[in-house]
Amino acid sequence: MTITLIRNADWVIAWDEDEDCHVYLQGADVAFDDDRIIQVGGQFEGTADFELSGRSRMVMPGLINMHTHPSTMPAFKSVREELGNPQLYLSALYDGWNLFTPAPEDKVWAARYAYGEMLLSGVTTYVDMCFPFPNWVDAAAASGLRAFLAPLYQSASWRTDNGHELKYDWKDDDGRADMEEAVGVIDAAMGHNSGRLAAVVAPMAIDTCSLSLIGDSLAMARERGLPFQLHAGEAMMEFLEITRRHGVSQVQLLAKERMLGPDVTLGHGLFLDHHSWLHWSTRADIGLIADHGTSVAHCPTPFSRYGITLEHFGKYLEAGINMAIGTDTHPHNMLEEMRTAAIMCRVAAQNMHAVSTADIFNAATVGGAKALMRNDIGRLAPGAKADLVTIALDEASMMPVYDPIRSLIYTAADRAVRDVWVDGERAVENGRLTTMDMGEVAHHLSEVQARALEKVPQRDRLKRHALQVAPLTFRTRRH
Ligand SMILES: [Zn+2]
Repeated sequence: MTITLIRNADWVIAWDEDEDCHVYLQGADVAFDDDRIIQVGGQFEGTADFELSGRSRMVMPGLINMHTHPSTMPAFKSVREELGNPQLYLSALYDGWNLFTPAPEDKVWAARYAYGEMLLSGVTTYVDMCFPFPNWVDAAAASGLRAFLAPLYQSASWRTDNGHELKYDWKDDDGRADMEEAVGVIDAAMGHNSGRLAAVVAPMAIDTCSLSLIGDSLAMARERGLPFQLHAGEAMMEFLEITRRHGVSQVQLLAKERMLGPDVTLGHGLFLDHHSWLHWSTRADIGLIADHGTSVAHCPTPFSRYGITLEHFGKYLEAGINMAIGTDTHPHNMLEEMRTAAIMCRVAAQNMHAVSTADIFNAATVGGAKALMRNDIGRLAPGAKADLVTIALDEASMMPVYDPIRSLIYTAADRAVRDVWVDGERAVENGRLTTMDMGEVAHHLSEVQARALEKVPQRDRLKRHALQVAPLTFRTRRH
């Protein structure tokens, strides 16, 4: 039993059990005993083993990043931001993805980098959606994060031979062997002795998995009491493919097949039947998602780079959908992702009041928790997990502080994150990771990217090298 006390914090974002919402407290104590919060608010009268001053600090719940691909995304930094295929509705999923992917043994460095970015931006829980790679479980456990490993598998992979026709390479076994491997990762996570690992069942995407693979996966998730996440509504091409195969939208297909429910999260849920790019004739999808209690993991940054946005966050909330937020791509800067979610919603709605800062904060905390079927994370309340973050109110980028959460989301972001505890363990201390050396990880990641870039001509269907696929911002002049 080790009690840690943050004494007299200037601000605390506490959970109000009666009203089921976050509230501000000022001049309040927060105490936790090992991995559990024991007091939020008032003055702690017990004896603490460790006491920290809460002066010039805000204490808030750790954020929940509901959708990430750590084994690849950091290696794409400064390469893929401006890549998108104009003949496949601007998506870079189909011919840009595999060109820069790190070798299997290199992926762990990308993952570690992403884990560091998450902790430094106040994330304590995340969903780790990767095709299994060497040392994954150990690296996730060593990061200090609360990790929901979501091993990906699929019946088919995307291919394009000419850059404008999307094809699917279907596996002979429908992806069943890969599903078995994923179950092995799920078992390893659920049985891990850190107590911080859990799992999500995650067949890759609605267009790359057969209905039978998705159905059996959902049945397996339900048998084990695990949450389920599936990419759906991610791309124009996916919408066109599903309507071609089945005659209905992705969500209407999932509803018909009884594959929606409160344990299901749709990764992205962006290209739904109402989206303005589609001009589809129905307006049923948002209502179906809400009626089934299904969640949406909204990841605005990758789409914003393509010039695409969800339409729109406020409308989904108004319909009653449980919204969560994920970073999906690099950077894994959850606080900036929250800002982007707010801005993109307001632009799409052409209305600044379409979403509030509280809505965004809820999505990044209790929204994610609900999607993961947990009520002990994403909130500061007695009995909840000791997953919490302190924000430096005296950091210049936070000042002046009229409303700390606005200063944090609209300006300071990760610059103001000072301490992060996950399960009562301090993973960030005074702005530095305790679980890894970010400089060393970044150095390895640079080497990983260099090795991947060398392979581009072997992987590209036109045998181009990296500088041709992804030209630099400026032409390089020779002196
Ligand atoms: Zn994704």
